Amino acid sequence: MQADKAGRIEVNPDLSVPGMEGVYVAGDLALVRDRQGRALPGLAQVAKQQGAYLGRALVKKIIAGADSAPFVFNNRGNTAIIGRHSAVFDFGWCRVKGWPAWLLWALIHVYLLVGFEHRLLVVAQWVWRYLTYERGARLILEPECSSRSKLK
Ligand SMILES: Cc1cc2nc3c(=O)[nH]c(=O)nc-3n(C[C@H](O)[C@H](O)[C@H](O)COP(=O)(O)OP(=O)(O)OC[C@H]3O[C@@H](n4cnc5c(N)ncnc54)[C@H](O)[C@@H]3O)c2cc1C
Repeated sequence: MQADKAGRIEVNPDLSVPGMEGVYVAGDLALVRDRQGRALPGLAQVAKQQGAYLGRALVKKIIAGADSAPFVFNNRGNTAIIGRHSAVFDFGWCRVKGWPAWLLWALIHVYLLVGFEHRLLVVAQWVWRYLTYERGARLILEPECSSRSKLK
């Protein structure tokens, strides 16, 4: 099994592992290339599409004994938050920025979560952080580092 520097396994176009019958890899662990030979990014939309593809492909293989067409990533666009009320959205064919993009970012992220409970929880956490200015990021320090910094 061949892995790159990032630990990703280069898979066949149907996400099967070369030389390993019945073994498939999807998501961040899979190194999949687009038609131009570029590696697909380690993003949630890639992982989700691969998961859905693999589910369908395995059902087809088990029930009909048929192989599926290669996995093709459908890029739905890229987005990034750039401030408290600002984001950018690049759909390829159109760009949105500022607070409309920020609102769109939030709506789409909540919509894409699995299950009503998760959506409700994330909305509640975001509203709380928005109102209290509490930051989501947490630093994880090695016990050795934190005790050393206390001594200084
Ligand atoms: C800080 C951060 C921010 C990110 N922000 C974005 C973003 O804004 N937009 C975006 O599109 N992508 C983002 N990503 C990337 C995105 O999270 C990943 O591409 C996506 O989650 C990959 O999905 P996955 O299913 O391959 O892996 P994961 O989502 O990591 O799922 C792997 C699962 O396997 C479980 N697991 C691990 N080892 C074992 C084991 N031995 N036995 C059983 N279970 C195990 C883990 O607990 C985990 O639940 C971000 C990633 C990080 C780290």
